Amino acid sequence: MKKLFIENTVEHVGEVVDLYGWVDTVRDHKKIVFIDLRDRTGIVQIVGGEDFKGLSPEDVVHIKGLVKERPEKLINPKIKTGAIEIEGKEVVILNKSLTPPLPLNTDGYDIDEEVRLKYRYLDLRRKRLTRNIILRSKMVRLVREFLTSKGFIEIETPLLTKSTPEGSRDFLVPSRMQPGKFYALPQSPQQYKQLLMAAGFERYFQIAKCLRDEDLRADRGFEHTQIDLEMSFVNREDVMKLDEEMVTTIAEELGYTIKQKPFPVFTYKEAMEKYGADKFDMRTEEDKQNGVLAFAWVIDFPFFERDDENKWTFTHNPFSAPMPEHREMLLNKENIDTIMATQYDLVCNGYEVGGGSIRTHEPSVLKSTLEIMGYTEERIQAEFGHMLEAFQYGTPPHGGLAHGIERLMMILTGEPYLREVVAFPMTSTGQTAATNAPSPVDEKQLKELGIKVV
Ligand code: ASP
Repeated sequence: MKKLFIENTVEHVGEVVDLYGWVDTVRDHKKIVFIDLRDRTGIVQIVGGEDFKGLSPEDVVHIKGLVKERPEKLINPKIKTGAIEIEGKEVVILNKSLTPPLPLNTDGYDIDEEVRLKYRYLDLRRKRLTRNIILRSKMVRLVREFLTSKGFIEIETPLLTKSTPEGSRDFLVPSRMQPGKFYALPQSPQQYKQLLMAAGFERYFQIAKCLRDEDLRADRGFEHTQIDLEMSFVNREDVMKLDEEMVTTIAEELGYTIKQKPFPVFTYKEAMEKYGADKFDMRTEEDKQNGVLAFAWVIDFPFFERDDENKWTFTHNPFSAPMPEHREMLLNKENIDTIMATQYDLVCNGYEVGGGSIRTHEPSVLKSTLEIMGYTEERIQAEFGHMLEAFQYGTPPHGGLAHGIERLMMILTGEPYLREVVAFPMTSTGQTAATNAPSPVDEKQLKELGIKVV
């Protein structure tokens, strides 16, 4: 097993060490060769003799060498291992590399997306991308640590599930055992997390994959990952406070500065008046240069809005509770345009980075919400019967929220595209990275599923 990451070689001056990694660059100076050896933690300079001459970039090698301090004037302060170099003693090529079809020592922004994603495993060797992916892992680790310390339990929910109205188009999966019927991939774990509250877990979280068949944009893909959480016996302010503590802890642990603490709170009306939108950027030019994070909450959203056909639909989430003072109006279906939801959205640097609500745990309120949207009794029972039933067996008051990890990562890294913070993103035409889906399938597979492509 590899025991030493390159960044740690500095701790082994005077020792012969075994290094494993990729050849980053080769500079041939006749009698000696300078090799930069790379792993995900950085590069180190190897000085080698004849044996090292056959190496070329991206070869995977095992090098045995002596760690030596560099003379004062040769110290390179730009790299972590700049005060040392390795006197190469032995080298074994573990895998010879062809010349990569794309340069890896640039930031990569100007390289064609198709090429970058086809060779994503090479593209990811790029320093910028390696760093982004590692930062993402750190962020998720901090989320787990924080939530676990607050008594949250991590629970997985199914990927093959029932369509849930989250405002997007579903991805459907045909059932082989029940031909003609379909599962939907979850747009979010919304219903399951509420059922976990009914089950008595009280504090749940999940790093959850969510799938939505929407048009692709710079900051939106078919798949995204949410930090999804739900709590029982809470009010709106409790969830906002806990979440704010989580976001603040993580951002500060990662070394970021937050513009204003506690986060300012705007009503939807105030936000629209002040910024003309419910997501906005409060940073000054100077804040932008310094990578400052300007978080704000938006609350008091209208529960309903008119859709294209002039029918009422929910603005955020049909499972939300109305503001307590509007409960009667919702039950009586009166003044629908003035009913406000317990929804809270978190905004940062111009993006919406999270949102949630207190949910209704009363069957009558959920039913009335669905009726306002014109759902028939039959449809309500077919699509929401299980929730209405659960609410009749001791479901506690509860609420929660979710954060899109990719959006948060884009803000933290300053990256303009989602693909820069995802290991294997899709192309803008929805083709998968490295593998080549969607692709045709066997006639036999279709037959088994009872499906005909027309
Ligand atoms: N399920 C919601 C969403 O995906 C978030 C929430 O209300 O917890 O946007």
